[in-house]
Amino acid sequence: MLVERLKTVRDCDNFVNGVFVKAKQYSDVVSPWTGEIIGRVAVSGREDVQGAVTAATKAFPTWRATPIKERTTKLFKFRELVLEKLDFLANVAALEAGKTFAEAKAGILKGLEVSEFALSLQNMDSGGAMEVSRGVTCEYRREPLGVVTGIAPFNFPAMVPMWMYPIAVTLGNCFILKPSEKVPLTSQWMAELMHAAGFPAGVFQLVNGGRDAVECLIDHPDVKAVGFVGSTPVAKALYARATSHGKRALCLGGAKNHLLVVPDADEKITVRGVVDSFTGCAGQRCMAASLMLAVGSVDHIINKIAQTASSLELGSQMGAIIDNSALARIHTAIADAEKHGAKILVDGRKANPPKGFEKGCWIGPTIIDRATPDMQCAQMEIFGPVITIVRVNNLSEAMALEAKSPFGNATSVFTTNGAVARFVADHATNGMIGVNIGVPVPREPFSFGGSKESKFGTCDITGESSLEFWSQRKKITMKWAEQSDATWMS
Ligand code: NAD
Repeated sequence: MLVERLKTVRDCDNFVNGVFVKAKQYSDVVSPWTGEIIGRVAVSGREDVQGAVTAATKAFPTWRATPIKERTTKLFKFRELVLEKLDFLANVAALEAGKTFAEAKAGILKGLEVSEFALSLQNMDSGGAMEVSRGVTCEYRREPLGVVTGIAPFNFPAMVPMWMYPIAVTLGNCFILKPSEKVPLTSQWMAELMHAAGFPAGVFQLVNGGRDAVECLIDHPDVKAVGFVGSTPVAKALYARATSHGKRALCLGGAKNHLLVVPDADEKITVRGVVDSFTGCAGQRCMAASLMLAVGSVDHIINKIAQTASSLELGSQMGAIIDNSALARIHTAIADAEKHGAKILVDGRKANPPKGFEKGCWIGPTIIDRATPDMQCAQMEIFGPVITIVRVNNLSEAMALEAKSPFGNATSVFTTNGAVARFVADHATNGMIGVNIGVPVPREPFSFGGSKESKFGTCDITGESSLEFWSQRKKITMKWAEQSDATWMS
């Protein structure tokens, strides 16, 4: 199924203190599928951010005092409402981000898995207490931080925001989401559903816009923590900015994921795994395979990969590119590889757009073969449906290239040999490792987060690790009678 056009152009307003608020200025939102304007997004500045922070600050004392079991009843309701509207939301997310309908739906469901993890906190995260000396007990409990913010990229309009807000609000924080200005529509409906689910005014809010809105949020003295997901240069700059104010920050950046294919790899699993990884979401995901290290003689697998990739149909099997400037970046990367002597094994520049969507932003799967490690295509994050193949002689050479990459999200190996799999898992420097899996995204309750320049900050963004990020531990030591042993505590 392809996407359906929306009947109206939606104003994507800020959602502040329980209502949508009109902005002074808007910019257009263009669908990568159609090239048509599908929305207008608020361009926010200091005043808008101040409004949201004030409402959140006001809501916080009551929300933090609400027992976690009561907070979660609202998240249960939210989950139900999202599922009721799943197909509609998936269509909106697909239309604004260029995904296929199936990918958009899967993204929302993956986001809901994080909500399910957050829902389990009421039974799982009860703190701890013990008697540490005779008559003295120590106890710890998790407390919210206050007003916190999450800044999201374009490529997963529902899922990436949902990595953050279900956990943050369940822990008692008031959350301000700054969606990507390229994909603000899905968040409009998510805000409506959070409101309908019963989250009090000020607990979940939206501030739209670009750099100005982000900087005002980060600089605001009452915003206590900053979650960010986006490109590496921005992640790095915002991490430095937030931490210079003494705030906690967790900023996830871009990637150049390495995928090792060795001669004993299972052909069927490898071909499917590699093609799905670099063409899924049209390569616009931080876990997409981007560099294939062909170890030794694997031409039989490369030929099948090329055959499968070139048979994919745009629209039904692969989505569109977010905008024309991204498309130009991808074209430049392919042309540069060609100029430097790499072979374009499959050329997506010649692919046909789906019928009825000719004005959209399309390019087909592209395979650049026989690249050298120093070429741009082997190093930069192209963020499109392009895989670069570098031939290496052995596993050690492949692992040396993996270690050299400044990015650190994912490394996968395709092999039928357990020792090879173990060697790669033990020695890879990236944060998420796959064996015979092209997109090694950990599922809940396992946490998501890379290493090196793919993540600035110490925790992961989901799973147990994220609890440490969105909360602080309070430690309480008590004595109710004279201590019956003599220690330094007496
Ligand atoms: P981006 O960095 O351009 O934008 C991300 C967010 O930052 C947006 O909300 C945007 O409005 C804001 N922003 C952009 N420039 C800014 C600036 N100079 N100052 C302050 N805020 C700014 O990223 P994108 O193009 O929307 O998303 C694609 C990138 O995100 C890719 O690099 C991809 O790998 C990465 N990504 C990483 C992960 C991960 O988990 N590591 C997940 C998804 C996407």
